[in-house]
Amino acid sequence: MLPFQGKIIIEKNRIVATETFPGSVLIINKGKSNEFINSWAYPGFVDSHGHVAALGSKLTELDLSKCSSDEECVEWSLLNPRFRGVWLTGRGWNEELWRDKIEPDLKLLDYYYPDIPVYFTRVDGHAAWVNSKALQIAGIDEYTKEPDGGMIVKDKSGNPTGVLIDNAMDLVKKFIPRYDKNQLKELILSACNNLSSFGLTQVHEMDLHPDNAGAFIELDNENKLPVKIKAYLSAQKDEWKNYDYTPSTYNNFSICGLKFYTDGALGSRGAALFDKYNDSDSRGMMLINESELFNKSKAGLEKGFHIATHAIGDKANSLVLKTYSKLIEEGIANKDSILRLEHAQTIRTEDLKYLKHKNIIISIQPVHCISDAPMAEKRLGDNCKYAYPWKSVLQSGGRIVAGSDFPIESHNPFIGIDAFVRRVPFNREDSFYPDERISREEALGAYCITPHKIFDEGFNYSDKLVGMEADLTILDKNFLEFDEKDISKTKAVVTVVNGKLIEN
Ligand SMILES: [Zn+2]
Repeated sequence: MLPFQGKIIIEKNRIVATETFPGSVLIINKGKSNEFINSWAYPGFVDSHGHVAALGSKLTELDLSKCSSDEECVEWSLLNPRFRGVWLTGRGWNEELWRDKIEPDLKLLDYYYPDIPVYFTRVDGHAAWVNSKALQIAGIDEYTKEPDGGMIVKDKSGNPTGVLIDNAMDLVKKFIPRYDKNQLKELILSACNNLSSFGLTQVHEMDLHPDNAGAFIELDNENKLPVKIKAYLSAQKDEWKNYDYTPSTYNNFSICGLKFYTDGALGSRGAALFDKYNDSDSRGMMLINESELFNKSKAGLEKGFHIATHAIGDKANSLVLKTYSKLIEEGIANKDSILRLEHAQTIRTEDLKYLKHKNIIISIQPVHCISDAPMAEKRLGDNCKYAYPWKSVLQSGGRIVAGSDFPIESHNPFIGIDAFVRRVPFNREDSFYPDERISREEALGAYCITPHKIFDEGFNYSDKLVGMEADLTILDKNFLEFDEKDISKTKAVVTVVNGKLIEN
């Protein structure tokens, strides 16, 4: 694929004609023309896996991701307290980045916050660090039974340490007041404006609680959404069934699928593995079994929803791929059904065969690799050879769409492309399992071609953009021509959505 320079004529939200010439991008829409010298046009960049409202809350919430110890987290919270109701909340702690790498503990929080409930979410969203007040409100003590798929971490004498993993987080989280609709609308807007400034024209909202869909629909009716949002509704506990939502497109917002989880995350050892963890006796946890995933997906597919399922560990990925191929072979998924494997972080070679099915789409967040490689080495040891299997997926005929899992990671797509192409972990210089790197063209394809091919039938890039929706990302560089090391420095000059220009 080649970036485009020349004239682009837009009518009624579609590109109707183009003419190539070197030097600039000239956009003509409703009689107005705008020229961008030394710029190149690309089909609109898509982040295929993110959490819009969570990004909005991150932009305003207490951020613990830069803290290098548990004490620093507390000090930072004292300087920048953020409350929801009476609860002190924050996110982003990562004990792997702490100087002494100790597991967090409630004692420190109790010392500074004896009377205020505290709830700090880990960077991957799969663990919470809370204090005694929070445990007391939730009624958690040494006798509390762990929920399925969750862990209440306990010390040697059996007392909760204040760390809750996966489903155990809900025991406390349900007591924290939710945002009201107006707060939510503000968060969504601040997130969308930020996403647009990185050249993103479309994002896929994963695990949208149906309670929150109304805020998106209202903003969309007010014509305020600057980016397109395709949402996958929370479905793990059949949440979607209590509402009347069906697959539907509004203006820039659409509801198109359901989201399930098969396991947790690697960092908190919640990812379900075939072998034991390299650094623990556990094999992680499955959050759903094969017949449950089959039946839940079937119910969604019959209503016309697409399916997206989270899988990190090789065992979880295997289960999802097997279940998807059964849904296809039994004719429950039709030719238009999209069955997405979210994260696909470790896939055993023998499971790559399922990728021959065209309905199966692999949704990858390349930045996870360069951010988590040192942790993955500890957790997986030799089995790292199955981790972040990008080239293997492509070579097996799999189709990749790229995302970032924002706000867990940066939604800057150029960091993602850099990760795809170089696989050099942050603060390191060597490439991590370099055989799994993919080319710039393949990486671009995952951001700005494959997602359109799947969702926009008029899309045909080889036709010089003609026919596609008028969503474009205009960059200051010809992506294929500069030094690989500079990829992450690329800037989006203009983001075009439905022919509307947003200069960055
Ligand atoms: Zn996610």
